[in-house]
Amino acid sequence: MSLLTDIHLPAVQLVSVTKGYPGAPADAPVLNDVTLGFPERAMTAVMGPSGSGKTTLLHCAAGLDRPDSGRVYLGDTDLTECDEDAMTQLRRGRIGFVFQQFNLLPMLTAYENVALPLRLRGLRVGGSAVREALRRVGLEDRADHLPAQLSGGQQQRVAIARTLMGEPEIVYADEPTGSLDRASGRQVMRLLRDLVDVEGRTVVVVTHDPVAAAVADRVVFLVDGGIRGMVEEPTPEKVAARLSTWEA
Ligand code: ADP
Ligand code: MG
Repeated sequence: MSLLTDIHLPAVQLVSVTKGYPGAPADAPVLNDVTLGFPERAMTAVMGPSGSGKTTLLHCAAGLDRPDSGRVYLGDTDLTECDEDAMTQLRRGRIGFVFQQFNLLPMLTAYENVALPLRLRGLRVGGSAVREALRRVGLEDRADHLPAQLSGGQQQRVAIARTLMGEPEIVYADEPTGSLDRASGRQVMRLLRDLVDVEGRTVVVVTHDPVAAAVADRVVFLVDGGIRGMVEEPTPEKVAARLSTWEA
């Protein structure tokens, strides 16, 4: 066990999580008996071939989807025991999710996109809170821009600012740099890293890029719905070497 896992309790713990889909063979579920913890105040990267179950893993861990069997603990709370209302409260209050395609509304400005989730819940949103969220992602001067007037990297940072409005303990990001050029991708990864180092949050990020993965504290490899190893204190070289073992 590394020092990291010794001193950081898991913020999220999956225990024997199995998940299939209608049509998937019962003996080959998308997630097959996955037991895995995401240490708190640390950044975990998840890598694996396309179709290996990474998105399904994140959705189950974030309460966006339910496993067929197994348990998912967020701290002491077992998500698999929560009803829909309790799950909605957790997703609003403790869990953030960032998508590859940003999911911004095109007719709303950056400011309005950041304010929207709280407004939809009927909450009054102070302008200073929105501007502070945009400042944290380095976009305080882009508040009045529409998504189409922003680069892909800037749009993703707006999406991260929107997530931060809920002050989530844990932020999941599913291929957040998958649609970005390399420089913008690096900037987004640095921002996710700062959520851990500066703000003390827990971050889990799916990526295909060994350089991006090396920003994390540890990389978990998922193949055919099962964990196939981890790299602690990753470097791009260590990660690429591990990837090549199943790409070969
Ligand atoms: P990854 O994110 O690693 O590419 P996914 O978790 O998206 O993998 O998908 C894993 C497998 O589950 C794939 O074979 C995919 O086709 C299948 N799958 C994912 N979602 C569904 C769904 N809603 N219905 C049926 N099959 C699905
Ligand atoms: Mg995916």
